[in-house]
Order: sequence, then structure tokens, then C-alpha cells
Amino acid sequence: MEDFEKLPAYFDGKFISLKDANLNVRTHALQYGTAFFGGMRAYYNEKEKNLFLVRLEDHHARLRQSAKILRFHWAMPYAEFLDITLKVLKDGGWKQNCYLRPFIYKSELSLSPRLHNVEDKFALYAIPLEDYLDTTRGLKAQVSSWVRISDNQIPARAKATGGYINSALAKSEALENGFDEAIFLDQRGLVSEGSAENIFIVRAGKLITPGTASAILEGVTRRTVLALARDLGIATEERDISRTELYAADEIFFCGTGAQVAWVESVDRRQIGDGKIGPLTQKLQERFFAFAKGELPEYKAWLTPVY
Ligand code: PMP
Repeated sequence: MEDFEKLPAYFDGKFISLKDANLNVRTHALQYGTAFFGGMRAYYNEKEKNLFLVRLEDHHARLRQSAKILRFHWAMPYAEFLDITLKVLKDGGWKQNCYLRPFIYKSELSLSPRLHNVEDKFALYAIPLEDYLDTTRGLKAQVSSWVRISDNQIPARAKATGGYINSALAKSEALENGFDEAIFLDQRGLVSEGSAENIFIVRAGKLITPGTASAILEGVTRRTVLALARDLGIATEERDISRTELYAADEIFFCGTGAQVAWVESVDRRQIGDGKIGPLTQKLQERFFAFAKGELPEYKAWLTPVY
């Protein structure tokens, strides 16, 4: 067992050791994928000897939105969500970069895949996490043969557990074919997102990302990157992107809470730009890490200090 598993998690209304936060095999969420979740990060700032949660309010707002879309009862107010998150981190004595997983799941042991009138519960735990995707080298990406689930099938916007089968199919295909990550096209055949991250391309100095109707998760990091770019005076555009624009792009990167800002060196074996990290990607990656670690005073309102 890893040391962090002994630390507190929030489970079934109580704070207990993560190793004891286990579910019955009959649980509705396990049988039918009827759960949704968040992925949040906290970064440790050595100089300030403090841990900073990134955009906690935005993550909470997205969870509330998911609950509504998916007909969950969960409507935890932000103040309570904040208290639970802080208690898990403080009582665990966390002083390193970590990833937090709020998880809202249909907890009944009943049969029948439905959403209404099924009890749901909330859990939250933390694990140590540095890079999820390698941010120090270029990634090799593949346009997936799997199509992104559309809003009328399993809404990506809702971050539903069951929807991650779609991500898993694409990620395994990409890895088993020797790539690092998959890029989904949506049902129209236009670029959507990665298996667990949003995507940006740069063309002629402009930063472009698919709009929110492209079957994407409305990423918190995507919004951060757009804001950082605009504040640097970089032109941004949210619009449809076709597949071959990926090949024609000067720069491409993925972003997400897990992925952070990770640059793409090739797509479908076509080199992007000159095969090195592009100037806008590099600048935005630097700004992103500086922001997340609490080094940019102008964005401190987006961070919640733990201690
Ligand atoms: N798309 C998908 C499918 C994801 O799983 C994630 C990770 N949560 C993202 C995008 C990025 O979202 P965020 O920046 O809010 O983490």
C-alpha cells in the first residue's frame, strides 16, 4: 500500500482513510457508469510554503452543472465543498503537488439503468501527481478511429464516468499504435479534443480551439489558457477545426488539469511546425505553470491557499 492511501478521504459523509473508501460491487455507478467526477490540482509553492488549489470554484460550478444535466440530486454549496476539500488536504498534511478527485455516484444497489430517483453520494480523495502527460518533450498524437461521443449520446460536457469508455478506447488505440495521445473528431468529422484534455492549435500567430459545441468537455484549463493568451495580447478564436488543419498547424498543444500544457510534435506522423516546441506554446506553458504555482499576482484570485 502506498503511504497516501492511509491519508483521509471524504466518503459517505465521513472522513476516513482512503484505503477504506470502498464500494459494494452491486453499486449502480459501477454497474452502469452512472457517476460523474472532477479532476482538480493543487500545486505546492516552496517559497510561500503553501499549497494552492487551482480554480476550485470553477470546478465546483462544473460539477453542479453535470449534476443538473445528469439528473443527480447532488447540490452541495460551494462553502461545504471548499471545507471538505481543505480538510482532506490539511488533515492529510499535503505539501506536494497533488490531484483531487471529487466523485458523485449513484450509490444504490438497485437494478435498472436510469438516472432519476436513484440515490447519489459524494466522495473526494487526493493522490500525488506530477506530469500526467510528459510536458518536457513533444507528444506524438494520432487522430482516433473512435468518434467523440456526441451531446445527444453521452454529453462530454457532463464529465460522466461512463463516457470515459470512449476516451479509453481512443487512448488504448493510440498507445498500442505507438503514439502518446489520441485526438478525437466529433460526429461531423471536425476536431474535438484529446482523450482527457482540450486541444489548441496555432495558425499564423492566432490561437485556435474548438468551440463548446464540438463535443468537448468545457475545460477549466482551456478557459485559463484563453485568458492567459488574451492578456498576453495573443489573438484567440473558438471555432471549428478540420482534421487537416492539424497537419497544417504551426503549433499544437493539449491542456487540462491532468495534462497541464503539453505540446504536440506530430499528428498522424506529420511533423508540426519545425518539430520543436513553438514560441506561443512555450510562452503559454511557462505562464500556465507560473500561474498554477501562485507566482503571478494578477491571477491569485483563481487560487485557493490551503494553509
Ligand atoms: N477533456 C476531457 C475529456 C477531460 O477528461 C479533461 C480533463 N478533465 C479535459 C478536457 C480538460 O478539462 P480541465 O481543464 O477542466 O481539467
